[in-house]
Amino acid sequence: MKPLEEARSEVLSSVGLLGVEHVPIWQAHGRVLAADVVAPESVPPFANSAMDGFAVRGADVSAAGAVLEVIGDLPAGSSSHTEVGTGEAIKIMTGAPMPPGADTVVRVEDTAMEGSKVIISSAVERGTSVRPAGGDVPEGHLVFTVGTRLTPMHVGVLATIGIGMPAVFKRPRVAFMSTGDELTPPDAEGLEPGAIRDSNRPMLLALLEDAGVEPVDLGIIPDDPDVLRDALARAAEADVVVSTGGVSMGDYDVTKMVLKGDAHVDFWQVAIQPAKPFAFGHIGDALFFGLPGNPVSVLVSFEQFARPSLLKMQGARHVLRPQLVASAGETFATDPEKTVFVRVLVEGLEAGPPIVVKSGGQASNVLSAAAAADGFALVPRGTATIERGDPLMVEMFKWPESREWIDGR
Ligand code: AMP
Ligand code: MG
Repeated sequence: MKPLEEARSEVLSSVGLLGVEHVPIWQAHGRVLAADVVAPESVPPFANSAMDGFAVRGADVSAAGAVLEVIGDLPAGSSSHTEVGTGEAIKIMTGAPMPPGADTVVRVEDTAMEGSKVIISSAVERGTSVRPAGGDVPEGHLVFTVGTRLTPMHVGVLATIGIGMPAVFKRPRVAFMSTGDELTPPDAEGLEPGAIRDSNRPMLLALLEDAGVEPVDLGIIPDDPDVLRDALARAAEADVVVSTGGVSMGDYDVTKMVLKGDAHVDFWQVAIQPAKPFAFGHIGDALFFGLPGNPVSVLVSFEQFARPSLLKMQGARHVLRPQLVASAGETFATDPEKTVFVRVLVEGLEAGPPIVVKSGGQASNVLSAAAAADGFALVPRGTATIERGDPLMVEMFKWPESREWIDGR
């Protein structure tokens, strides 16, 4: 059996980049920057008011009780060339540019109008409520570096500095399929005897979407070597092929039958649980991931091998999920020959330190416990038992939200 780290680095070492394109900012979410971003403009572009109030000279309001003549009105989106002189104020709204002469804004709450005059009720320090030009991002500043996967907030910052067509790495097209004579589409009416629903394919589609790639659904492929051969040939037109099922030791493991002799595909036994069997290589020019059949194995195998590869292919700097240290809330007895991925709930994050407990059944077909889980607790190879209170690494695939639909245990 191949240790996890060795298997993953072997996989990652055969992954390259696809090239660069420019995309409209409206489609940039989840894409990976292909170049450093240097701000071509300052944000804010001009000094402006942080409050609705009065733009004044700081020297005029250093003591409470100042009475100033209001000489104008400045809504956001307009600008004024009228200078604010000593003893004067301009009414200003949040976001409006500071008029010449003024260096301070007094919030409207600290004022009272009396005819054309404003009375300032408290002392205000010079510079208060003024947002300086470039105070968020100065022009010429290195904002983001190549390899950054764009979150909604990154997209917003690109917009503020006027980058409407960021350079990003191309996304791979990923053809995916389920194999198995027993599989019935999730939306078919009723099940024939011996049939089960194809849960892998909808889950894979969602996993692929999360990984930011362009999915191509090739459907359910029966356990028929000729049909599978055809499907793989079509799939190889994509950049990546992902299949599920048929890679282990069964009599009808058709993926193995078709690809076993292929010089470009290897059948591995990875020292992990679940998801020990795994096929990896190339079909034509496409990278090939032959995932196992059981849904939880699909999840683990995808998370450990396919997702990091797909992120690397898109140029992402970070390809692995974040891990945190938690404490075992119960005993975990696992196979010491393998790195075991225990589906866990992470409790107590509010008060810390986090404590993990199993989210349900741990067999590789029990997908409901994976849906209930927040992450995988990793019990390393060489460890047979984790006692309550022992430290554990947890790979988070989501942060605890509502669990109202099910009690995971
Ligand atoms: P296999 O490796 O093809 O023998 O599949 C292992 C187990 O996973 C079997 O119990 C299959 O029925 C099940 N399985 C395979 N593909 C799927 C799928 N697409 N959805 C749900 N279960 C599956
Ligand atoms: Mg099968």
